[in-house]
Amino acid sequence: MRKKIVAGNWKMNGSIELLNSLVPALAEEAKEAQAEILVCPPALFLNEATRLAGEFLQIGAQNCHEAFSGAYTGEISASMLAEMQLTHVLVGHSERRAMYGETDALIADKTKAAIGAGLTAVLCVGETLEERESGRTLDVVLGQVKAVVEKIALSDWAKLVIAYEPVWAIGTGKTASNDQAQDVHKAIREALAVISPEHADAMRILYGGSVKAANAAELFACPDIDGGLVGGASLDVDEFISICRAAS
Ligand code: PEP
Repeated sequence: MRKKIVAGNWKMNGSIELLNSLVPALAEEAKEAQAEILVCPPALFLNEATRLAGEFLQIGAQNCHEAFSGAYTGEISASMLAEMQLTHVLVGHSERRAMYGETDALIADKTKAAIGAGLTAVLCVGETLEERESGRTLDVVLGQVKAVVEKIALSDWAKLVIAYEPVWAIGTGKTASNDQAQDVHKAIREALAVISPEHADAMRILYGGSVKAANAAELFACPDIDGGLVGGASLDVDEFISICRAAS
């Protein structure tokens, strides 16, 4: 039985005021929750977030550099994140692929760096609207997954979570239907099973793309959907707690 995860990606949003109200409330929720709860605030707030998180709420970063250290002005390494008691880091978010030119090869390197530092990497994959409309969804998504998992030792797959996030559903209010999401999640699990059925069965695959309290329970009830990666709705404490409860 896979334990569900609900992860909040604040992107470049929020404030210390929001952190101070949201993180303690989630820390309380996480004590009793059956799902894992993870929050990924902006990098500058991570230190304070880990201080407020308590024992059960997990705090993650939204990005890391692929190198261990060096002359990379403005960047943060995975080992630095681990040193600050973070547990997770997002890699390959579609905004980073589109706006910062992150390639599958770079994302694989970031994933390896994250896992090497002891973090769990949340690998984001997903197709654009144009790719879906031209019937290339599975080619694109499975290509993005394989480009990373094939470079990760099977013994490290336990430190990997996959988030399927159709680009056309992110921040648009358009959610994939339950069937659309389940079909892609199932295809991802089947592709992983070609490498190792046992590891594929254990892999948590989250859905992301306009998840809200109103649609979370139905999505999370799909057999291959193991929770959600939530953007906008993770900034509203009541909404996000409702989503967390939908996963319990
Ligand atoms: C995201 O940023 O990963 C995301 C899924 O955003 P939203 O929930 O706002 O669509």
